[in-house]
Amino acid sequence: MVVGAGLAGLQTVLALRAAGYAENLTLVGAEARPPYDRPPLSKAVLVGAEPDSTLEADWTGLDVNTHWGRRATGLRPGVLETDQGDLHWDRLVLATGGEPLRLPGADHALVLRTHEDCMALRERLRPGARLVVVGAGWIGAEVATAAVAAGATVTVVEALAQPLAAVLPAEIGTRMLPWWDGVDLRLGARVDRVEVDAVHLVGGEVVAADVVLVGVGTRPATGWLAGLTRTARGAVEVDPGLRVPGRPGVFAVGDCAAWESARYGTRMHVEHWDNALHAPGVVATNVLGGDAVWDPVPYFWSEQWGRMVQYAGHHVGAQGMVWREDGDRWAVFWLTGDRLVAALTVDRPRDLVQARKLMVSGGRVDAARLADPTVAVKATAVADGDAVAAG
Ligand SMILES: Cc1cc2nc3c(=O)[nH]c(=O)nc-3n(C[C@H](O)[C@H](O)[C@H](O)COP(=O)(O)OP(=O)(O)OC[C@H]3O[C@@H](n4cnc5c(N)ncnc54)[C@H](O)[C@@H]3O)c2cc1C
Repeated sequence: MVVGAGLAGLQTVLALRAAGYAENLTLVGAEARPPYDRPPLSKAVLVGAEPDSTLEADWTGLDVNTHWGRRATGLRPGVLETDQGDLHWDRLVLATGGEPLRLPGADHALVLRTHEDCMALRERLRPGARLVVVGAGWIGAEVATAAVAAGATVTVVEALAQPLAAVLPAEIGTRMLPWWDGVDLRLGARVDRVEVDAVHLVGGEVVAADVVLVGVGTRPATGWLAGLTRTARGAVEVDPGLRVPGRPGVFAVGDCAAWESARYGTRMHVEHWDNALHAPGVVATNVLGGDAVWDPVPYFWSEQWGRMVQYAGHHVGAQGMVWREDGDRWAVFWLTGDRLVAALTVDRPRDLVQARKLMVSGGRVDAARLADPTVAVKATAVADGDAVAAG
């Protein structure tokens, strides 16, 4: 049984059947619709270029008992409690993803996580509409991009000093600041309260709004799993094989899970699409009795202000940064010693692919050559045993 019918839930079902799992398979999802992709909700679907983002699946051929619109409420050995009665399981995969954080007293403000959220926002992004976005993170940047394209008047209120400051070093957010020229970006601005027609800032300023979108992050949708060990942010702790320790036959995957990584020597909690796409393959192998390990170099992308921003790796704890400057197309690489540990690229997809390959192979790089935009990233690799030229 798989609980949570998002990307990770669907991929788990597909991977199980592809791996030869022939037993009964049940997919339980709280939303009253089959699985769909979320990245287009802040991109093509939000701007109306695509009607929706339903993921293709041959449900008849897959032979899955689907329960759309059914919410899991509790877990006992062999029993999933739901809002429509108990279901019985032999093996259980938790894939309940994440849910958006809201601001206290601002339940009337919009958030963006589901197809319905996207439709509600889309119909209000009209020319001249005054949109206030709370949070200049990934979602805030993409929604502001779409809203400006729709002709809305956009104010973005961010408590920190740069866009994306919660997830990236300050220099990078500062480097991105010119991208936000088309909006009224208020940095270091704290929200006091959100009314239906205005956002009140600490200090007394009032920003009038026809629509308010709160994009201040997510938390794992695991409140119903009180008995399981979870991280401080609420992700279910799993071993490198994505098994829940002490709960035989229970696995967790996607945005709701945090795995022990030997690669990074820490527990990883990655809330991005690539993780939800690929980790289910490991779950399927292990449900079938295998011993696969999930320990990737994480990857994600964001499309904002007409640019493709891509990131791979894990920069927390890195010792140094190398900038690769080439006008609007730039990149940042993080190193520990001469090992490449993370990369962020702007409109440089080839650099990103090559950097990720180097990280997967644990590769050493020549930092001076990495800074040179005319040198292919793969050509900066240094074989073990070679000295790195000073520079
Ligand atoms: C607007 C938006 C844009 C994004 N853009 C990007 C991007 O550009 N790049 C990128 O890398 N990532 C992006 N992401 C992140 C990416 O979409 C997620 O990492 C991915 O959807 C995670 O998949 P998941 O299946 O783990 O969780 P989810 O997609 O959250 O699916 C979990 C499902 O479980 C259901 N569920 C929750 N609780 C229960 C319960 N108790 N019982 C039953 N069902 C339950 C939920 O309703 C949901 O349908 C974006 C996310 C959003 C919201």
